[in-house]
Amino acid sequence: ATTDTRPAAFDNSYARLPAAFFSAVEPTPVADPRLVAFNRPLAEELGLDADAFERHGAAWLSGNLPPPGALPLAMAYAGHQFGQFVPQLGDGRAILIGEVIDRTGRRRDIQLKGAGQTPYSRRGDGRAALGPVLREYIVSEAMHALGIPTTRALAAVTTGQPVYRERILPGAVLTRVAASHVRVGTFQFFAARGDIENLRVLVDYVIGRHYPQLRDAERPALALLDAVAARQAALIAKWLGVGFIHGVMNTDNMTISGETIDFGPCAFMDRYDPRTVYSSIDHGGRYAYGNQPMIGQWNIARLAEALLPLIDADQDKAVDAANASVSGFMERFQAEWKAVIRAKTGLGETEEEGDQQLVRDLLSVLFGGKADFTLAFRRLSDAAEGDAADEALERLLQAPARLAPWLAAWRARLSREETPPGVRAAAMRKVNPAFIPRNHKVEEALTAAADHGDFSLFFALNDVLARPYEDQPAFAAHAEPPKPGEEVTATFC
Ligand code: AMP
Ligand code: MG
Ligand code: MG
Repeated sequence: ATTDTRPAAFDNSYARLPAAFFSAVEPTPVADPRLVAFNRPLAEELGLDADAFERHGAAWLSGNLPPPGALPLAMAYAGHQFGQFVPQLGDGRAILIGEVIDRTGRRRDIQLKGAGQTPYSRRGDGRAALGPVLREYIVSEAMHALGIPTTRALAAVTTGQPVYRERILPGAVLTRVAASHVRVGTFQFFAARGDIENLRVLVDYVIGRHYPQLRDAERPALALLDAVAARQAALIAKWLGVGFIHGVMNTDNMTISGETIDFGPCAFMDRYDPRTVYSSIDHGGRYAYGNQPMIGQWNIARLAEALLPLIDADQDKAVDAANASVSGFMERFQAEWKAVIRAKTGLGETEEEGDQQLVRDLLSVLFGGKADFTLAFRRLSDAAEGDAADEALERLLQAPARLAPWLAAWRARLSREETPPGVRAAAMRKVNPAFIPRNHKVEEALTAAADHGDFSLFFALNDVLARPYEDQPAFAAHAEPPKPGEEVTATFC
């Protein structure tokens, strides 16, 4: 009966892989762990004993005493960081404590981020500061509520210990939940060592875990490449739809599952401008908003290279097949983006020749008018019901002259569809959020928590962002773009 009292039904498949995949490592205990945030609905979804986790969270989720059944390990991986290949990265401050099968039968990783040094820490301290932990908590949960595949946040624990960055900051540990933590960089790790045997083990493992339908594919490695490309193309289109800028799209930060991972210097765009960059470490703008599709393709090309030895015994044929897959990425992305932007613009059942131009013109009006991306589409949803909302949309534009002619063309186009205006507006409100994690609001909440121990803004922000597509009049201030002086221009990880 002892198994009945276990608070989590761990089944640690990664720990059963060959030794080269990971290093067994215990988290390093911390001085004074306190559970400051706990995601009960997620705990229940994971089939955890939520009461036990809430009661023992400070010990279990700080790493001081991992929960019964945990088998802590750090995963090995490589990766291209800002275009430069690093043959060995690995979990330098993240420790996988195990996997559970959730209520819907999906295998999920539970990982402690900031739980101490590992063999992959290099010069790092293995720790995380409270601010970035809370940022990841807020933004990953907001992404989930927005309907975007993402890792999740189960808990945040403060450690009672300082971490030393540019200044001294309070330390914390985030409990991250993922479909898995296998990345493009995991494949690169084995490929760079010429370890084809383990590369094959990895392909089998991820097909079994994420793409079981490919088990009987004629060329499984190629089918896997195509499948990952498809998921990443869809993911990046969804990012662009909500103005999300990942900020560090290194190949070690691109999952095989198609979930968004690694919320470091990420940010949401305020004004619409494809060149927007917030990350303080992205000097060249490599990971700017509008570059993300191209970088997605670049990363898929790195995955293709890693998989080459397994794609076809004949390497010429392998290269041809991989090239076709990589070239196909942009087409896949374009198709996904078209679906996203059409829905955002209220274009429905039938495609017309002028539609693409209509969408381009709208984006050009928003760009020229320096309009807030999120609010503009939310107001456009209102405008789908009638011209009473036009003025509110116009107020978002610094140069509104081009708006009226565009609206006229848009309405002429919509009049050729049968969808009633109210139905269209409601559908648009389901894809055009009223609330996103506004950088200035996130910053405000992190500062209150990290500098003053006040978590009230953090909790309030999580609450608002749990229902991003609903108008929540009580939280109108959270829907507003930053006022002059409130703008956050740089994010740090
Ligand atoms: P990231 O840019 O967050 O994806 O991290 C890149 C690499 O640096 C990964 O191998 C991380 O595990 C490692 N890393 C980041 N921060 C730390 C830290 N504070 N201590 C040890 N390793 C770290
Ligand atoms: Mg990373
Ligand atoms: Mg990071």
